[in-house]
Amino acid sequence: MKTLIEGGWVVAWNGTRHEVYERGAVVYEGDRVVHAGGPYAGAVDARVSARGKLVSPGFINTHVHTTGNGGDWMLGDMVKNDHRTSNYLAFAAPLKGKLTPPPPEAVAALRAYVFLHALKNGSTTIIDVGGLRGDWEGYARLVDDLGVRVYASPAFRDRNTFTDERGRLYYDTDAAAGAKQLDEAIGFVKAYDGTAQGRLRGMLNAAQVETCSEPLLRAGKAAARDLGVPIHTHAGGNLLEFQRIMDEHRKTPVRFLGDIGFLDDRTLLGHAVFTTAHDWSRYPFGDDLRVLAERGSTVGHCPYKYAKMAMTLHSFQRYLDAGVTLALGTDTYPLDMVSELRWASILAKVTDANYQAGLARDVFNAATVGGCRFLGREDLGRLAPGAKADILLINLDHAGGSLYADPIKALVDSASGRDVDTAIVDGQVLVQGGRATRVDEDAVYAKAREVTQHYWSRVPSWRWDGATVDQIVPPAFPIHRAARA
Ligand SMILES: [Zn+2]
Repeated sequence: MKTLIEGGWVVAWNGTRHEVYERGAVVYEGDRVVHAGGPYAGAVDARVSARGKLVSPGFINTHVHTTGNGGDWMLGDMVKNDHRTSNYLAFAAPLKGKLTPPPPEAVAALRAYVFLHALKNGSTTIIDVGGLRGDWEGYARLVDDLGVRVYASPAFRDRNTFTDERGRLYYDTDAAAGAKQLDEAIGFVKAYDGTAQGRLRGMLNAAQVETCSEPLLRAGKAAARDLGVPIHTHAGGNLLEFQRIMDEHRKTPVRFLGDIGFLDDRTLLGHAVFTTAHDWSRYPFGDDLRVLAERGSTVGHCPYKYAKMAMTLHSFQRYLDAGVTLALGTDTYPLDMVSELRWASILAKVTDANYQAGLARDVFNAATVGGCRFLGREDLGRLAPGAKADILLINLDHAGGSLYADPIKALVDSASGRDVDTAIVDGQVLVQGGRATRVDEDAVYAKAREVTQHYWSRVPSWRWDGATVDQIVPPAFPIHRAARA
């Protein structure tokens, strides 16, 4: 069946770059685009009007944790009073033995919410860099049912992070556990790569550069090469990690990963904020950006998450100018790829004190084709004959939107994920009129909220000082909470 999307601003790929057609057309048949560009005269079976909308390739979100970002990660971001416990460290470092995994139904509820929330906000390809563990059969079924495109496997590490009873962070080495987790990840890739009609694909996830020993990082990269899949790790994510790698290896995280053969064009680094290019690193030796550019690795930039922690890449423009492949991701709540375009653009300008930095063109490229290199996919992130029919229709013409001459600049300057009207993945319409077509989205949200409330109520039981969520993250104003049943 051939479907024609007509009348909108079409972002078509001409083989080397995106071009925009006013009142253009996209035609897809099955899971593939057959035409993208100007008007289409051939016969079609169905027509969809995109008047007043941008017809865009779906965004590739390179940083999603299927942990239920409404829960731990939203809180984790806010813990900025002490940078040593900011970022992931605060909430992924419980008292040892006190944090029990959530029940399977909670895991399923949070996964469903994360996938749906990301999709509704413009992510058609979701890179799951590590989330809640277990029930992989259920995970694959969920990807199949929801219709999203996902790259995943459980993260592995051989150094767990805990806090002691005085709130001091420590790393607890467990080589056997790391090896077992890597085996589990390899098993996941072998079992599920290519399932869900090819939409669930395997990749490996070394959790963080400093929570994996050098032998485990080497083993992980070797396994990824054997399997022919990409690999991700978090690196340059915070100063504590940067310093630990300097102490352990006398090298920056990027240089260390480069020297052990971890970096190549199938490698995605989450964040890579603390490199030789960042002045907080205070490390004037070497050139991490050159290393990243030469190895062809991709940086998954998550601008909003870092902005909330009063940090940013130094800078989007400098990385781009150095030849580093940049992609975008959300990491934490909200998983809104449309807003990330604006954050990436604005932060680039502010960081460089240059309004010519972070152009709409460059951030749009990062959210689309930028995510394709490490995936080894030339059929994603673009609308062209032969590409996957992963398409977004985004509302631009409405009284809450702006008056514009250039729809890409309008998108970057003033749109958000809530303007996504239609999301199509593999030729299947998953969101229409802003609502999910396959699931009861209100029920998905309610269930995720319920299990998150339960999770929050349990925080004092594993937190070193027994603090409640409201004590850890004080509300903006005092809240008189209603009694709960
Ligand atoms: Zn992350």
